[in-house]
Amino acid sequence: MLNKKMPVVFAGHGSPLNAILDNRFSQGWTEMGAVLPKPKAILAISAHWYTHGNLINDSDAPKQIFDMYGFPEELYQVKYPVPGSPELAARVAELIGADVSNDWGIDHGTWSVLHRVFPDADVPIVQLSVNHNLTAMEIFDLGQKIRPLRNEGIMIFASGDIVHNLGMVDWDLEGCYDWSAAFDAHVQELVKSKKYDEVIAFDKLGPDWKKAIPTPEHYLPLIYALGATDEADDVKVVNEGGELGSITMTSFIFE
Ligand code: ZN
Repeated sequence: MLNKKMPVVFAGHGSPLNAILDNRFSQGWTEMGAVLPKPKAILAISAHWYTHGNLINDSDAPKQIFDMYGFPEELYQVKYPVPGSPELAARVAELIGADVSNDWGIDHGTWSVLHRVFPDADVPIVQLSVNHNLTAMEIFDLGQKIRPLRNEGIMIFASGDIVHNLGMVDWDLEGCYDWSAAFDAHVQELVKSKKYDEVIAFDKLGPDWKKAIPTPEHYLPLIYALGATDEADDVKVVNEGGELGSITMTSFIFE
């Protein structure tokens, strides 16, 4: 058991409201918790911590942050008081080179999903930022460097969205626009067939790529996740599709 390779997860998190809504996506997260092994700790990579350089949180009691505004009070009452792991933070810094910062914390990209997956809040979490300075190819390489953690009982959990265009969101729409669904399905096919080079070169993913990825911070967590996979991994798709027109929730478990 001790040496069992831990999965890599890419989770589409979508609207912060999914943290409190009972819908097919939040149910999907609960179901994920039922099938995933319980890791020694989680290295969480969140779209919402987009920084120049690799920053990592090394507190033994990281603060939960509510990095969204104007939502119902109930959302700010979700508490997810997980422990941290200074030991894991040091290990990640050793593998990739990272600066410690505890100014940020565990943001909603991480806790909105994980409080459903591991509701007991007893799995330590270390959060790593998405590095603005790196190309997608360099991020894939960085993902490869953290891959050994999987053999050390650590789950790599990357949280973003394949399609994420806030400017085009329609709050009254449950599903996706056609272009958004098609873009998501295309990326999904590339991931399933392990054509990672094409996923990495996202600016060549057809005419709609700029609508799907107006800024890359929500897409790049997928690239970290792909980098951390290996040849032997199978991929399972969870929470296929999307919401609000221009946000997709499609998630992957690699194991
Ligand atoms: Zn987000």
